[in-house]
Amino acid sequence: MRARSIRLGVAIVAMAVTASGPGPLHAEGPADSVATLVARLDFDEYKAAIKGLTQFGDRRQGTDRNRAAVDWIEAQLKSFGCTNTERLKYDFQPPPARQSGAARASAVAPGGGRARGHRAPTSVNDDPGAQPDERLRALDSQPSTPGLREEVYCTKIGATHPDEMYIVGAHMDGIGYGEAANDDGWGTALVMEVARVLSAADVRTDRSVRFVLWNNEETGLDGSKAYVEQRGKLQGREDPPGSGRYPEPKWLGMVQHDMMLFDHGMPGPDGRVSRDQRPEADVNIEFAMTSKFSEGAQKLAWFFLTANEKYATDYPASVGPHMTNTDSGPFQNLVPAISLRENERGTQIGNGWDPHWHQPTDVYSTFSDKDFRLGLNAAQTTLGALATLTGATLRK
Ligand SMILES: [Zn+2]
Repeated sequence: MRARSIRLGVAIVAMAVTASGPGPLHAEGPADSVATLVARLDFDEYKAAIKGLTQFGDRRQGTDRNRAAVDWIEAQLKSFGCTNTERLKYDFQPPPARQSGAARASAVAPGGGRARGHRAPTSVNDDPGAQPDERLRALDSQPSTPGLREEVYCTKIGATHPDEMYIVGAHMDGIGYGEAANDDGWGTALVMEVARVLSAADVRTDRSVRFVLWNNEETGLDGSKAYVEQRGKLQGREDPPGSGRYPEPKWLGMVQHDMMLFDHGMPGPDGRVSRDQRPEADVNIEFAMTSKFSEGAQKLAWFFLTANEKYATDYPASVGPHMTNTDSGPFQNLVPAISLRENERGTQIGNGWDPHWHQPTDVYSTFSDKDFRLGLNAAQTTLGALATLTGATLRK
């Protein structure tokens, strides 16, 4: 039987979204495969994916709980139909310990933005005893040991351009002796859910997409650096020659996801942040204006913003030029790279807008459905953009 595919690509039909705000996406006519794919992201399933990751506590690199999480993620990816999982291996030897007290605020934020308004101090909790939940304290107790590390990825192979791909990433390791639910259980869940949707048997893409769950982000982007080092040179090579197989398709862009649940606004004069998700919450898409590929990265960022306007049900996106301190960094001078976050990394998170960042309170139960919904909107943004960029269609 011949499979009939509805071809959409970039020509997306205007969608009727109710003026009253959030609601299901309605495509006009039967032909918007991208909208159909985005509608396959399910709020409860996505929350369950975050919850699933928190069973491994903070997933600190170099521990049994981290290795168990890598195994679990791999099994999940396979069960979603992304069966060609592979592992990148590297050795990690930690540099001498540095002082990790409260960061001092300065006028120029990391990434080059200008810090404004009220600020609250940020820090990394290094005290396992600070976790009040006894069960979690025990789960997070094993310290990290140096040595071999592994990180898992799988690939949706493009039907017409298997030799080119977008990389979609998030880091699965965490710190702070909580559950790393937001940083970066959210991003890991997003990558897994987008992999689930695009790996369905009836989905075809022209170009490839690689889903990567970085390890060792929190030690200084060591997992993504190892990937760039080991695999950058393999790009676009057909191996074996004539096989039609490309172990490392040429990189077209890299999209990183790092924290997206908590956008409660600026701290007040007392340094406290509101308990509630602010109605103005948004998805912050950042590129690095100082990077070699800033022009392409900027275009990619605006493309994601447009996808957000088309496909995200509740929260808008905004674009900023100061991407920093995340796994897209090692890629930024090789390929257009962007990151998606709850706030700008430098001027906002760096100034205390997320009091749970690297703290024992970064646990699943801290976040409300309004928080989780911002995360889902980012997933809708990424899936909408990627499906369009890779020419995703549905087989009938
Ligand atoms: Zn992070």
